[in-house]
Amino acid sequence: MTLSIPDYILAIDPYVPGKPLEELERELGIRDSIKLASNENPFGSSPRALAAIQQTLSNLHRYPDAAAYGLVHRIADKLAVAPQAIVLGNGSDELIAMIARVFLRPGDTALIPQPGFQMYEIMVRCCGATTCGVPLAAMTTDLAAIQGHITPSTRLIFLNNPHNPSGTIFSRADFERFLDALPAGIVLVLDEAYIEFVRDPTCPNGLAYLQCGKPIICIRTFSKAYGLAGLRIGYAMMPSNLAELLHRIRQPFNVNSLAQAAAMAALEDDAFLAKTIEHVHAELDFMYAYLEQLGIGYFKSQANFFLIDVGKDANAVFEALLREGVVVRPMTSYALPDFIRVNVGLHHENVRFLEALSRVLG
Ligand SMILES: *Cc1c(COP(=O)(O)O)cnc(C)c1O
Repeated sequence: MTLSIPDYILAIDPYVPGKPLEELERELGIRDSIKLASNENPFGSSPRALAAIQQTLSNLHRYPDAAAYGLVHRIADKLAVAPQAIVLGNGSDELIAMIARVFLRPGDTALIPQPGFQMYEIMVRCCGATTCGVPLAAMTTDLAAIQGHITPSTRLIFLNNPHNPSGTIFSRADFERFLDALPAGIVLVLDEAYIEFVRDPTCPNGLAYLQCGKPIICIRTFSKAYGLAGLRIGYAMMPSNLAELLHRIRQPFNVNSLAQAAAMAALEDDAFLAKTIEHVHAELDFMYAYLEQLGIGYFKSQANFFLIDVGKDANAVFEALLREGVVVRPMTSYALPDFIRVNVGLHHENVRFLEALSRVLG
């Protein structure tokens, strides 16, 4: 059988996910390993969210609320945006896919920071469009360079603040300059997956620009600060005319009922969120100080993870740490071959990682 597959599908490199801990442990014959590779919440999920899931279990034979009325209104109240401005996704990954499908045709271009979150490129290429990667400058999103790469084929720009994997941010002043110069006809996507962890007061809040008159979409997620990565739920805020477009292609039941219930409860659990953020800040400072004592380079981060300069092949360091039972993310595939990315774990996990790293780096 001869299938005719679009060239742009064949050109996509499959996403390589991290191996589950259980599989790694079996392969390496180790136990009690720790995972600091996917920017997950070290405290697990909000207990209120877990209780809400329990209560929803008896209704799993019902389809979820296609409009997610309760959750949309809870988010609207909390963030002071109109319910018509909100679109939910099966993780923000799905929102990125929906945005690409709505705004891109084959031949169009999307600008993305490079290195950057790999989902942007995959979703853009699924539409037959192409990405243009704009290098970071000094490990920070280079807004002036992105502006300089705009061409008549540019339809979409993805920004990610704080940026994954660098952990750095661009400032409100730089962002406003960029926004002022943004030509009409380009949709700006501001992915704020880590916004809850930001300490730097110069960081812009995407929600403040939804009414600036330009097409801007602000994406956030329950996967990181709220500890619900396994449930898959993200949310996006945008002018309501853009939301209407996304709703046309949104699968009606894209957010399952457990995710809706858990997210509603998690939004109410201010204590869990505050505890998470406080812990991340304290532990980042602890880890920075430890690395400084060892003379190991790193980048200060506004997220719940940071980059460490291991000064040699990151894959080799990754493998050596694995044998110590510590899973981190080597940045080789992000064209940062000397860097690993590590997220904040529980205190004893961070200590174990730092001790293992100092052994591995000698
Ligand atoms: C983790 C992450 C997300 C969130 O993805 P979900 O699909 O919501 O789990 C989005 N953008 C970036 C840059 C991320 O690192």
